[in-house]
Amino acid sequence: MYNPMMIIDGRPVLASDGSVHKILNPATGELVGEVPSGGRQEAHQALTAASRAFPAWAATSPGKRADVLHQAASLVRELADEMAVMLTLEIGKPLRASRREVLGSADVLDYFAEEGKRAFGEWTISGAGKSRSLVIRQPIGVAALISPWNYPVDLLSWKVGAALAAGCTAVAKPSSMAPIAASAFIEAINRAGAPPGVINLVLGPGSTAGAELVESPLSQKISFTGESATGRWIMAAAAPRLKRLSLELGGSAPFIVCADADVKSAAEACVQRAFNNAGQICISVNRVYLHHDVEEEFMELAIQRAGRLRVGSGMEDVDLGPLASEEQRKRTREHIEDALSRGARLRLGGSEPEGEQYSRGHFFLPTILDRVDHSMRVMREETFGPVMPVMTFKNLEEAVRLANQTEYGLAAYAYTNSLDAAVYLAERLESGGVGINSNNVVDLQAPFGGWKQSGFGRELSHHGLEGYLELKHVKIGL
Ligand code: NDP
Repeated sequence: MYNPMMIIDGRPVLASDGSVHKILNPATGELVGEVPSGGRQEAHQALTAASRAFPAWAATSPGKRADVLHQAASLVRELADEMAVMLTLEIGKPLRASRREVLGSADVLDYFAEEGKRAFGEWTISGAGKSRSLVIRQPIGVAALISPWNYPVDLLSWKVGAALAAGCTAVAKPSSMAPIAASAFIEAINRAGAPPGVINLVLGPGSTAGAELVESPLSQKISFTGESATGRWIMAAAAPRLKRLSLELGGSAPFIVCADADVKSAAEACVQRAFNNAGQICISVNRVYLHHDVEEEFMELAIQRAGRLRVGSGMEDVDLGPLASEEQRKRTREHIEDALSRGARLRLGGSEPEGEQYSRGHFFLPTILDRVDHSMRVMREETFGPVMPVMTFKNLEEAVRLANQTEYGLAAYAYTNSLDAAVYLAERLESGGVGINSNNVVDLQAPFGGWKQSGFGRELSHHGLEGYLELKHVKIGL
């Protein structure tokens, strides 16, 4: 049993009214832990602590801040095995994926520790030569860091690493669905020497604890990752105080396979990106567009590959764990039923796996549909489940039109061996990240974020750090 506590001003805290929230294993339904369920009061206390800690942390040199972050990264690595088990038990993903996520979060802390030292200024001579302009970057203030359940540790580390390196203090609020490993992560940073109040942890529902973090005059920056609908609410709630915002929202990534592509590697990459984390990724492949000429070969390879994926408890050697909740499974089922009722063809999966070992979890088989079109929910909405819908195109112009026919714009992928086609697609696809012969658009050194309804603001890279800094022009008369 895991029973983490909130961390406010460096101290462990329970909910003032004693409320707790139970976390159940999505593979078995068994109790994994109980976490305090805080609300507005705890969020306010955490913001107050962060406000108090801000002046000293902002004045701490980037090198000293880096020492704390490096120390925290080492501690997270030491705890990686334990934290990975927490992650798998609370959210279902296979253990090796959980371990990769935790180790990745340590790398993020190390990265931002060093990037914080490079918040360079500028120095220019005025037109008339009688003054100098110094441009400096300073931390915004207290940041509210609100994260979702699908990558509870990794996505939180993107925010915490950048905020703390920039000199902001922060309050982290992980998703109520997956708060255990995220709590261990925040605890590790506190244990690694972050002064009290620099990084606080509030656990509780978004509608109360989260809303207070957004609405309170004590937070100056909101960094949110989650659904587009929640992002819209947050933007409206933050508007009266013109708070700085980064919104990382939903996605509907197209995967284009051109006539000249290496079909084998495209099929392998597509299956991997569609079914990784059981499709519960904002950059998961949501829509596959195949050139007519490669359809048959691609489908054969993809069905074979996806058919070999092993489904089961994340504690075993599997490729797909259960979906995180029954709600996710219900939506997956509904999207498939809707597609089939409109003429799609089921090529693989389409149901829960059979067997006693699956009876108590939210398992679902990797599913491949073809003959889909854009009238179907699976092509318009985020399924967030293990479904790969496929349709065909005749030329690049049509591929781009179909790929961009979505309100989202987070990631897009294209496989081709033509340089011209690669550049044509990279320049025309409307999304914050484009993978050319790559099924990943995440890299520590590169900006990650969305266009359109996938949000705005960037995480990772020096652009991620910028999100926590304000520019100041200091004009020096001579
Ligand atoms: P939600 O929007 O439901 O929740 C995200 C976080 O926001 C949770 O911590 C939640 O708290 C909190 N929250 C909910 N309502 C409010 C509110 N009114 N004020 C403040 N905070 C609030 O998203 P999910 O957790 O369901 O995550 C899945 C979504 O995240 C998908 O749409 C996915 O595409 C997106 N996502 C986007 C990524 C990106 O980088 N663009 C990456 C990963 C996921 P609680 O749940 O505890 O109530």
